[in-house]
Amino acid sequence: MRTIQGKFHRESQSKAEDLEHRRMMNHALNQSEIAFQNGKQQFQNLDKAKEDAQSVKEKATIHLDRYLLEFEDRFTKNGGKVIWARDGKEALEAVWKICAEKKAKKIVKSKSMVTEEIHLNAFLQKKDIEVIETDLGEYIQQLSEEPPYHIVAPSIHKSKEEVAQLFHEKLGVRPHLGPEELTMVARRQLRTEFQEADIGITGVNFLLSDIGGVAITENEGNARMVTAFPNTHIAITGIEKVLPSAKDLELFWPLLATHGSGQKVTVYNSIFTGPKHRNETDGPEDMYVILLDNGRTNILSDPEMRESLHCIRCGACLNVCPVYKNIGGHTYNTVYGGPIGSVITPHLSGMKEYGHLSHASSLCGACTEVCPVKINLHELLLKNRRKSVEQKNTFRLEKFSWYIWKRSMLSRRMLNTANGNTKERMFRYLFKKSWGENRAIPTFPKKSFNEQWKERNSKIEK
Ligand code: SF4
Repeated sequence: MRTIQGKFHRESQSKAEDLEHRRMMNHALNQSEIAFQNGKQQFQNLDKAKEDAQSVKEKATIHLDRYLLEFEDRFTKNGGKVIWARDGKEALEAVWKICAEKKAKKIVKSKSMVTEEIHLNAFLQKKDIEVIETDLGEYIQQLSEEPPYHIVAPSIHKSKEEVAQLFHEKLGVRPHLGPEELTMVARRQLRTEFQEADIGITGVNFLLSDIGGVAITENEGNARMVTAFPNTHIAITGIEKVLPSAKDLELFWPLLATHGSGQKVTVYNSIFTGPKHRNETDGPEDMYVILLDNGRTNILSDPEMRESLHCIRCGACLNVCPVYKNIGGHTYNTVYGGPIGSVITPHLSGMKEYGHLSHASSLCGACTEVCPVKINLHELLLKNRRKSVEQKNTFRLEKFSWYIWKRSMLSRRMLNTANGNTKERMFRYLFKKSWGENRAIPTFPKKSFNEQWKERNSKIEK
């Protein structure tokens, strides 16, 4: 616990002091904010749209078992295959079994956070299978050998100059190319990969229960290529991605687009209901959907935390979070960063190891305010803090500090005895390390409130 938490403290402190990082992040996130403010104009009543989305997700989550079985039934009848995976290991084994059956050597992938969650790329590479990310941001991250920095914009922290240098070093192209030239380089490179790949792997934005469909939304058209060229399509998804009906997309597609990238609707929106049929010319011959639990049923069984499963991974809560803005994505050391990551990771990967993330919040509520499905994120962070204490994950020093605080608060004599200097010294002793070197220690009044009150009243009486 100390190691993960200690690493988080060290790295967040160093990132917060990195002014160039702060400049890059503020620039990128300000652009997102402007796009969001424009995009949201399409809603006559955004709050009503959010309430409706919240109630659809609530219904989907409460009846998750029914909707998932309904999805499986319809998708299977249409020729698709559904695989249930209790954890990452089972999901990886299922992918490997398909790869072995198809004698796959090359896989193209579109953007998917759930495959990051199960460390799919590393697993397949160990099995000597080449995996190529085809979303431009993910492609950049793969070339850099780094995980995504943001759940929607994986390479948000990189400048165009850094990307040009990366392409020069890894792909041997001329240095100092501009954004359009870089995009063309990636496009040319990836075109061949699509044609050569044996299997295409995608994530899922929404599982559509009533039609047994998989909805995928994207801006680059790469997910369409991933699903069109290879003979096999594997879609991997967390079980919480279900919507009762395809009709719900009318609400969820624009909500996701606006909150994710400020668009009215994303450029390419596809629904897959199975492999190609005998009389069809396009599409894969086999299609699999892997439904991953990996700790989600733990969240489902906890009525207090259940609403965190409503998340549609739009990334808006990261964009507005003052902590994420300053410390960036990698510092969290988790797949899902920012407020939603801090809420769900302790339940997916262990409260003991990741409970500290719930404290990495100013509780300003900006995340809750922006969330398109109205997840009460800052309240959930508080609930996580309480759960962590109940599970006895508190440090001895913290316990001791609260003990002293309680004793002092209950004793008039102690409050009056300790003057401002003593309180300041105590504060320095107890909190200097966690307070950080670059923040001024608060100054305390020389006299206690009680002393000041008495003085003031005695003057008035005179
Ligand atoms: S918690 Fe809400 S704002 Fe954050 S990623 Fe999920 S849906 Fe978007």
